[in-house]
Amino acid sequence: MVESQIAARGIRDPRVLFAMKEVPRHLFVPPPYDKSAYEDSPLPIGNGQTISQPYIVAEMTELLALQPADSVLEIGTGCGYQAAILAALVRKVTTIERIPEVAVLARANLATVGISNVEVMVGDGTLGYPQNAPYNGIIITAATPSVPQPLVEQLADGGRFVAPVGGRDFQELIRLRKKGGSIAEEHHGGVRFVPLIGERGWSG
Ligand code: SAM
Repeated sequence: MVESQIAARGIRDPRVLFAMKEVPRHLFVPPPYDKSAYEDSPLPIGNGQTISQPYIVAEMTELLALQPADSVLEIGTGCGYQAAILAALVRKVTTIERIPEVAVLARANLATVGISNVEVMVGDGTLGYPQNAPYNGIIITAATPSVPQPLVEQLADGGRFVAPVGGRDFQELIRLRKKGGSIAEEHHGGVRFVPLIGERGWSG
């Protein structure tokens, strides 16, 4: 998967490629879909939610430009796969999931693979989690109509923010970089995610 679908499509960061090789994706995918775990596609995880496509996980992780001492916030835990990749690269990951049953699944999956530097919270991630802020990286793994302002406020100076922003059916992957009070914005192509539902996201 890593050589043919991720490195071949342009992911270069050796730490990201290493993490993608190390984390066993099949342990995050419920049966019967676990047989397809190493295909480059999103898959159902229950509760109408999905595990993200491996290439997109790698691309968003590379865009975060993470350092080992970083603290990262993820919005949209799902089954915990993206959180596990982040956990292999940084000191601490805080991740927020809206659906309690999905958060339980993520905690179980992360425990199964022996990851202990991820804190899984239940709640509306559009408001962030100020108790653990500031974050060197913030990633939203659901489609948001706009950048939630609380998340920009919780980003450290020098921090990177990556999210799919746009409509319910199609979004643009954007990266923001916060530096000295100003924000630089880049666009990284079209993506499709399930909606981010919350106070600063979609209403339902
Ligand atoms: N990060 C996941 C992975 O590793 O495969 C994929 C996440 S899935 C595409 C999107 C998740 O975002 C769903 O589990 C959904 O319940 C969650 N979600 C939607 N709105 C949310 C919100 N306001 N706060 C937290 N989680 C939210």
